[in-house]
Amino acid sequence: MAQVAETQKPEAGWIPKTKVGRMVQAGQIVSLEDIFTQGLKIKEPEIVDVLLPGLKQEVLGIGFVQKQTDAGEKSRFKAIVAVGNGTGFLGVGGAKARQVRSAIDKATLEAKLHVVPIKRGCGSWECRCGQAHSIPFRVKGKCGSVGIEIIPGPRGLGLVGGETPKTVLTLAGVKDCWTRSFGSTSTLGSMAYAVYESLRSTYGIVTPKDWVT
Ligand SMILES: [Zn+2]
Repeated sequence: MAQVAETQKPEAGWIPKTKVGRMVQAGQIVSLEDIFTQGLKIKEPEIVDVLLPGLKQEVLGIGFVQKQTDAGEKSRFKAIVAVGNGTGFLGVGGAKARQVRSAIDKATLEAKLHVVPIKRGCGSWECRCGQAHSIPFRVKGKCGSVGIEIIPGPRGLGLVGGETPKTVLTLAGVKDCWTRSFGSTSTLGSMAYAVYESLRSTYGIVTPKDWVT
């Protein structure tokens, strides 16, 4: 019986609450590209479970948050999670809860709701292979006091940078690039959001037909 539970799909028993969710379940929307080209919003994590079956997740940080309230001291855990399918879709989310496990679970759901397409390509002048191993051009992103610049690199370079940028880039499916970070990286989640924002901006200047790589 245990095996049945393990092979059960996460979306099994899902009752969609939104129009987009119902369209996904009915098979009227069969890819995330459909959702983004039509300007629709993902409001249920199950949409991502159905449309991106190979999604991977990484816990990027766990913090402890203490807050003074009328009822006394309230302490909670904060988790930052990134999700990605390794071929151009990425999400980052954060959440707080009294238990570490539930903070991670809630952050994972948040990350799924924030999945966006990442434009990959080869913007490296040393390389010019035209394949989707890097990003098409240099991008920058910021979150709070943390900034990051991501620079296309030639094939075989690998990812040059800190642990968090490397993990997020890997989830997005970017294999070769340099990164340069600025500011204080001590705030939990800031670096992950900065990388997410910069990768997200790869779609700022292209049209939907360029999405498929
Ligand atoms: Zn290349």
